[in-house]
Amino acid sequence: MQEYPAYLTKGFTPYDPIELWRLTEEKVCRGDARKYTDFYCVGVYGGISTGYTVGCCLRCVFCWVNFSRDFPDKYGDFYSAEEAARRLVKNARKKRFTKLRISGAEPMLCKKHLLGVLDRVAGKGITFILETNGIPLGYDARYATELAGYSDIHVRVSIKAGSLRGFEDRTGARGDFWELPFRAVEGLMQAGVSFHVAAMTDPRLMPRDERRNLLRRLRETGYTDWIEEEACDPYRTSLVRLREAGFDIF
Ligand code: SF4
Repeated sequence: MQEYPAYLTKGFTPYDPIELWRLTEEKVCRGDARKYTDFYCVGVYGGISTGYTVGCCLRCVFCWVNFSRDFPDKYGDFYSAEEAARRLVKNARKKRFTKLRISGAEPMLCKKHLLGVLDRVAGKGITFILETNGIPLGYDARYATELAGYSDIHVRVSIKAGSLRGFEDRTGARGDFWELPFRAVEGLMQAGVSFHVAAMTDPRLMPRDERRNLLRRLRETGYTDWIEEEACDPYRTSLVRLREAGFDIF
């Protein structure tokens, strides 16, 4: 990979998401520290303390997060696991919230940082909501077992596609990696971690037969619980990414 890839443009060459993961970590992880742009509280999940971090291993065309995803060198400051956990808990306490999360990116990059934060928030009566695209979790077979060591965690795995082609077209990652999020689901079930599945099945983006395939593939993993089906909202960042990649859905 010659240049660090930003948002997809028409005619893009699919990339290796594992290589992008490593390349992104070089920019946003330093020891047990990770780059964040902000810490704040929002109303989703009934109220949650949020650390807005930097860096992802996918390039979804519908992604709403800040351009820190595409240009990680330009955004954020490094926070140790200790400092990030302190801010997350302090903000939650101030609002009397009992949930916290790392958002704005893929939280499962920088494993040392994530596990360091989880170590420090454990036992405080706060649930950590771990929203992931399932790529690191599906690739690193030990990750799910490591998460199982924390009782106050709930994972939300967001599946982006139900076929090799759909995965490549809408995340930009090579299609042969499309099954990693399904492996993540299998790993979480085997490890006994609390989780649920979300899926970007917006019909403006995902054809009906691909959605059927996604549901079939999910059933094959043994998952029979609730699926949170997502819709694409017209955030400014999403509109730019969709336009640049040649998607006309709004
Ligand atoms: S939608 Fe999520 S997984 Fe996709 S690029 Fe954005 S942050 Fe990464």
